[in-house]
Amino acid sequence: MAESVKKKVVLLGATGSIGTSTLRVLRAHSDRLELVGVAAHSSHNELAAICAEFHVPHATLSSEAAYTAAKAGGNFPSSTQLHCSDAGLLEVSTLPEADIVLVAVVGACGLKPTLAAIEAGKDIALANKELLVLGGAFVIEAAKRNGVRLLPTDSEHNAIFQCIEGHSHAHLQKLILTASGGQFRDTPLEQLAHVTPADATQHPNWSMGPKITVDSATMANKGLELIEAQWLFGLEPDRLEVVIHPQSIVHSFAQFIDGSILAQLSPPSMTFAIQHCLLYPDRALGVDATTDFSKALQLDFKAPEIARFPCLQLAYDAMRTSGSAPAIFNAANEIAVDRFLAHELAYLDIPRVIEHALSVVNAAPATNLEALLQVDAEARNVASSFTSTAR
Ligand code: NDP
Ligand code: MG
Repeated sequence: MAESVKKKVVLLGATGSIGTSTLRVLRAHSDRLELVGVAAHSSHNELAAICAEFHVPHATLSSEAAYTAAKAGGNFPSSTQLHCSDAGLLEVSTLPEADIVLVAVVGACGLKPTLAAIEAGKDIALANKELLVLGGAFVIEAAKRNGVRLLPTDSEHNAIFQCIEGHSHAHLQKLILTASGGQFRDTPLEQLAHVTPADATQHPNWSMGPKITVDSATMANKGLELIEAQWLFGLEPDRLEVVIHPQSIVHSFAQFIDGSILAQLSPPSMTFAIQHCLLYPDRALGVDATTDFSKALQLDFKAPEIARFPCLQLAYDAMRTSGSAPAIFNAANEIAVDRFLAHELAYLDIPRVIEHALSVVNAAPATNLEALLQVDAEARNVASSFTSTAR
């Protein structure tokens, strides 16, 4: 394939778990994909190594201290232009030569660079779910107005995207998102009070960053994903369901009005969804081996217990309240998880923080981005000052 037809990719969150899986896809398909920009927060040595390996012309570090250290250390190749802070992140997200921006930073910090990339006409491969839960209305409107693709990279949404492609929206009955149930799906309920950050950052099936691993344990992750699905696929809350599937092989289901259900299957590696988005609408040999039906394979499904996963119920409540409630849910959860990982809160405080924020912050719809970011900030303040009743 000629050099000029390579798709030019920007990778936000290059040093993280999704970032690392994306680099594997880029290595395998260097004849089709070219990395033209990368972003991280503070992992400057790792980012410099990526720039050297992939000859990346633009990189940015959001942490100014890391940027200063990187400049002093001189690890970045001289051919890489190094940017920094929020302005650098916006610059790399809107590089004129880029075709697609894969958003794999963690948390609501992904919203502004994603909106900027959309306004600059870039297609988006979206791994980050928090930004859609916070600002879905703005993201969907901007993507439509600019005629860009919003390609779902989260495995469940990628599965649904593959299942519904070519079908009429009017024929869709409901979407059923699968969930592993996380590491505490069978832990006796009375033991959950004693869960530590070390326990909660080990996932049985997936290797992921710390925040989403805790979110998987509480199922706040599935709650965020329900809201993500609402924005991406335009279905009301009553037509979005969750089923626990401990093997993480079926990544979600789409049910049609005639009762037929389609599913997408692959082993629990994010390379399948990432590659699907980056090469879309083309396909090529995958980087990981797929499911082997010649070996014994068990696939189990069961309904989630609400008593074990209160965050899931809170997400449904936020979705039904709508307005800014999903943004409040997300902000409170981000703070609660940070505080839990810092040993400031107990595991069971996470849903308490979210419930508290949802009850005190005004959930009226935000009419513009600044108002929405103010709600986000207020929910973060409320969540930061929550005092644990558990210790
Ligand atoms: P990680 O914690 O592993 O990585 C986060 C990445 O974002 C790192 O590269 C980090 O840089 C970077 N980052 C964080 N804050 C900023 C910032 N302010 N500016 C620029 N870069 C920043 O997270 P994951 O890869 O696990 O998850 C990323 C996103 O993808 C999350 O929204 C998650 O919910 C979603 N997702 C993840 C899946 C997975 O399998 N991991 C599956 C589906 C969705 P640094 O290294 O310098 O801190
Ligand atoms: Mg997911």
